[in-house]
Formats: sequence, structure tokens, C-alpha cells
Amino acid sequence: MEITREQLNERLSWSLDQKIDHTLVTIENALSYSDNNAYVSFSGGKDSTILLYLARIIKPDIKAVFFNTTNEFPEIYQFIKDSEGITTINPNTNLRKVIDKCGFPLVSKEQAQYIREVRSAKSQKAIDKRMNGWVNTKTGEQTTLGKISNKWQHLINAPFDVSEKCCFYLKKQPAIKFEKENKLLPIIGTSASESQMRLLKYYHTGCNAFNLKRPASYPLSIWNDTDKWNFIRENSIPYSGIYDKGKTQTGCMLCGFGCWKRDNFDFLKQNYPKHFEIGMSYKNNGVTYADAITFALEKQKCVGKKIFNYGQTAIPFPNE
Ligand code: SF4
Repeated sequence: MEITREQLNERLSWSLDQKIDHTLVTIENALSYSDNNAYVSFSGGKDSTILLYLARIIKPDIKAVFFNTTNEFPEIYQFIKDSEGITTINPNTNLRKVIDKCGFPLVSKEQAQYIREVRSAKSQKAIDKRMNGWVNTKTGEQTTLGKISNKWQHLINAPFDVSEKCCFYLKKQPAIKFEKENKLLPIIGTSASESQMRLLKYYHTGCNAFNLKRPASYPLSIWNDTDKWNFIRENSIPYSGIYDKGKTQTGCMLCGFGCWKRDNFDFLKQNYPKHFEIGMSYKNNGVTYADAITFALEKQKCVGKKIFNYGQTAIPFPNE
């Protein structure tokens, strides 16, 4: 179902009660579409905690599944353990092995993918598109959608690989396998405004994306953070202790997506020094994660301003 920008803006302006009603109807539709064969993807974060709470109002015995990325915060693992009725699915690999094989998850999912594509591209056309953007043949306009941002182009010549693939190996592949084997539709707690990719997907599908190759339901698409915390507090819903340590977003401890704007690694170094030390020693092409982060961020003048300078060895920049 196509959604216009105006429709989305209207939904985003709804009251919390209206959003709750919309979410419950979305979950009901997902259950009806799947003949009651759906499950909640439960990460242990606040979004999926709310989602599971609401889904269990409609179907108390709905399956809840935690896909273990192998590098979640200890408070998330504890919360999963304390929550009732959660099935855990483990991947057949781990972050260290994926980094070794594919590269570091740096910058953002989209930019990491474009950098990986350019480094392995065979055609000049494909490289040009990622380096300079492309011309929209319908409008004749030059677009930078799909372009590697200028500030990250130095990563194309880095002495290590950058890749978005670890999300695939640690999250997506185990989820798709589980869904196929059990013939279950995923109900996922992400919001439309989380990333450009999710926003574009929302315009194309709305909250129930049944028209995709991997059909899924996204009942919290129109909630914002204030809605989520208000709902949790008003209903006294237990949540993971990681938020009380100051984290506003959960997810993998060692993820380098958003590394230039968030304090992920500083937070890790201060609060989980052992995990930090182990993670920073992961290698790709002989380069440690610490050195790769420093290499990525040095050009952004982040080193020195924050405590980002984790590398022991200075890697010379290409052509310098
Ligand atoms: S969130 Fe980051 S670290 Fe976690 S699986 Fe995805 S890319 Fe890898």
C-alpha cells in the first residue's frame, strides 16, 4: 500500500492513543494475513518490548524470537533471560569471523554497502554512479542518492574492507531461515524515520509490507521516542537496564555504523573495557578494528575532539 508524505506526516502527528489503536489494528491484520502464523522479532530493546506487549494483548501465545548477534550488551542478554517465552536463535558465525571475512561495519549500512561495491566493481559505470551520483532519466536531474559521501571516499582506498554484510550474516540470514522453516511472518518493531532506507520503504508499503519478497509487519512505524517512553512508563512495562546506563539506542555493542556522530565506542570503552579491548583487536586484512576506526575518522577531525583515537598504529592515507 503506497503512502504519501502527507499521509505519513498526518500519522506522525497522531496522539499516542491513536497510534496504539493503529498498531493493534496493524498486528491484527498481520495475524489475519498470515492465518495466525506470525512471530514477534524481539531484540530486547524498548521498541520490541513495546511491540511484544501489544502483540500479546491480541495473541497471548504469539511466538517471540531473539536473533542473537553475539555482540549484544550484557543487560540485553539479562533482559532476554528475565523475559518470559523468548526463543533464542544463534547464527552459525560471529562478529569476529564476519569482520575477518567481509570487513568492518563502519559509517552506515548504505555507505558501507556502496564502498564495498566500488572496491569490487568491474564496470566503470558502476563506480561512477557510486562516486558521483547519477542522472534520473525521468526528470533529467542529477541525484546524489546512492553516492558515497565525499567525506567517506577515502575508505575506498583503505587497507581494509568495509562492509554491511555482518547484518546479513548475524541477523537477516538466521531470521529468513527461521521464517522459511517455520512458515512464520515477522512482526518487527522498527520505525519509519530510523533511516532513509526505512522511510522510502514505508512510502512504498505502509505498516504492513505484504507486497515485498520478504513480507513483514512494522506496527510501530509511526511511533517516536517520546511515544515509546510515555507508553512504557504509563503501563509500567519492564525494560532492559542498558537504558538506565545512558544508552538511548540498543543494538550491537561493537557496531561502527554512526561511529562519527554517536559515542558508541567511548561508552563501550568506559563501561565495558574488556568487551572494548577484545572488539578493538578484531582484524580484517591484518588491520585492527581500532586502527580502522581511527583511519575512518581521522579525516573528519574527530580524533582529539572525542576519544576516538583507539588505534595503536597510524595507517598512512592513500596518496599521502
Ligand atoms: S548492527 Fe552493526 S554490528 Fe550488528 S550485525 Fe548489523 S552491522 Fe553488524
